[in-house]
Amino acid sequence: MVKIERKDTEKSRLAISSLAKEKSKSAGKCNTPEVVDALDETFHGKCYICEHKSATSLQVEHLQPHNGDSDLKFDWENLFWACGHCNHIKSDSYTPILDCTKLEVDEFIAFRKNGFFGVEESLTFETVGNFDDPAIDMTCELLKRIHYGKTPQEKAEAKMLRHAIREEIHKFKEDIRDYDESFGEDKLDLFCRIKMELKSNSPFAAFKRWLVRDNPVKCADFIDCWK
Ligand SMILES: [Zn+2]
Repeated sequence: MVKIERKDTEKSRLAISSLAKEKSKSAGKCNTPEVVDALDETFHGKCYICEHKSATSLQVEHLQPHNGDSDLKFDWENLFWACGHCNHIKSDSYTPILDCTKLEVDEFIAFRKNGFFGVEESLTFETVGNFDDPAIDMTCELLKRIHYGKTPQEKAEAKMLRHAIREEIHKFKEDIRDYDESFGEDKLDLFCRIKMELKSNSPFAAFKRWLVRDNPVKCADFIDCWK
């Protein structure tokens, strides 16, 4: 989970006017083609919670559950783009959580992938510093369930998600190693690639950024390069 900027674009303007029209109807919808298009653009085609870019089902999600409140239901700022797995788990149970369109979530929570094999491997989500905000703890709780699941179905989906994270982080580590050992133009190419991998549109960017933060010597050239 990293900060995603909600930009003023043609698609977002179309979405906002479509939401205003839907709000005036008795059974208006918030998943109009305009809204779906704009959310996909804004969130770079990835789930804002798990950062999976190849998730097969992406859905309109309300950060603050609307429970029939039309102001919350049709508010563009309250609409997010989540995969089916995360949307189902979050539902109305995890609120409030951090708003990733307003905050640098990975500055409040450390996303770490520890260990390599089977039982040794763990994904952890820990608060950083002493912020007194219940939304941080709630976000950590949600992230734990998203990555490990509670019900048999959630567990099966979480296993696939962890597999995708493992593959992506492995690739990222290889790039860092290659960068370390390369020279000249190759090094420059790798520098640009690694920088791209740390940006907000990249899958699992929070885990990658923490890998950089936790290895300040090896990753000296990349500290804070996503800002
Ligand atoms: Zn997700």
